[in-house]
Amino acid sequence: MFKKILIANRGEIALRVIRACKEMGIHSVAVHSTADADAMHVRMADESICIGPNPSSQSYLSVPAIVSACEITGAEAIHPGYGFLSENAAFVQVLEDHNIVFIGPTAEHIRIMGDKITAKDTMKKLGVPCVPGSDGGVADVDEAKRVAREIGYPVIIKATAGGGGRGMKVAQGEDELEIAFRTARSEAKAAFGNDEVYMEKYLQRPRHIEIQVFGDGKGRAVHLGERDCSLQRRHQKVFEEAPGPVISDETRAKIGKVCADAVAAINYIGAGTIEFLYEDDEFYFIEMNTRLQVEHPVTEAIFGVDLVREQIRVAAGLPMDFVQEELQVNGHAIEVRINAEKVPDFAPRPGRITQFHAPGGLGVRMDSALYDGYVIPPYYDSLIGKLIVHGRDRSEALARLKRSLSELIVDGQGVETTIPLFHALLREDDIQTGNYSIHWLEKWLARTYG
Ligand code: ADP
Repeated sequence: MFKKILIANRGEIALRVIRACKEMGIHSVAVHSTADADAMHVRMADESICIGPNPSSQSYLSVPAIVSACEITGAEAIHPGYGFLSENAAFVQVLEDHNIVFIGPTAEHIRIMGDKITAKDTMKKLGVPCVPGSDGGVADVDEAKRVAREIGYPVIIKATAGGGGRGMKVAQGEDELEIAFRTARSEAKAAFGNDEVYMEKYLQRPRHIEIQVFGDGKGRAVHLGERDCSLQRRHQKVFEEAPGPVISDETRAKIGKVCADAVAAINYIGAGTIEFLYEDDEFYFIEMNTRLQVEHPVTEAIFGVDLVREQIRVAAGLPMDFVQEELQVNGHAIEVRINAEKVPDFAPRPGRITQFHAPGGLGVRMDSALYDGYVIPPYYDSLIGKLIVHGRDRSEALARLKRSLSELIVDGQGVETTIPLFHALLREDDIQTGNYSIHWLEKWLARTYG
């Protein structure tokens, strides 16, 4: 087992990894920008090192700074968390060349899944069902029109290098296609430096269902069921639950096996998520994330596993600590993302925290790097915490969510959060019954706040 791990991240996910390291008796190294010198992950780690100035391009995204930090501190392995360098194949290649273990998949798997056209093609060949669409990239408007006539409107044009919900445009009919195509292209170029786009049929009222997979890199893999992440704003998740309210045990076992077999066939190592849109009992692959997801705790709650511990184990060459038959769903879990944003326009509202109180009690988990007096820096993501609740069934989880939200206090100078959004959502019948698709939240926001 490793003696020392460097965590190339910040905020709640850095704490998450440090906690796993502590329980495993592994020395943890935090890295931080100058703005984060007083951050909780720096305080909680056994050791810390400054890697550069505030902008993430010069600190958390700087490969030379992170590799040097590893060399200075003698860390043998790096856990990337999510975001930042977690899906950067070039970074993983540099680590491989420096004999530093990356706690995650190989550079090759990251490369395959990072390019959405290649990912879709690979998954299709592995027997995973995909959204009908173009075969690969679409070169120009004429080709886009041909593809759209074939698959039928509405269509969505997506960036092959896409991520974070950016570079996607919908066309309801041929009259909207040209402008959607050109906009998607220029957005893709601006956001990802790659203007290649592809097309899919635009599904009208799907749910976003993703399957957690885990491989040992030696041809064995398991699945840990699904998460329903349909409640989204601008294609970004805000509320996630497991199991999915409309997924039966039989459906889970079936799609789970397809996914586990697919990643086993490519000798995938570590945690991964295969994302689908789900409509009329059919799954349609959209992408694979080759890392730990923000919403992984709901899976941990219902399966009683520590996914980070497992990631570290397989990266160190140990076998997986579970087999498929042992992985049984126990109860229901929900996560809500607490962002330092103003509702309803979701504009960032960072600032100094004057009072932070985390909820507690049975079945409540709060992953957050906040503390009284902490100043949320404006330079990074606005996620400041995740509240995860676990109950015997969905209605108990919902009641527990309501109760724990009422205990949660995040007060600060100029700080606003998404907590009021969840209080309001819990009053909705559709949330109580689980009757929502990926478009529900946008429509509700428009209706409720105009
Ligand atoms: P990203 O990598 O930017 O997150 P995804 O391909 O995962 O992009 O898609 C993000 C979200 O966009 C999905 O969860 C869904 O809400 C929406 N979306 C993507 N593809 C389609 C499609 N073919 N039909 C309808 N909605 C889609």
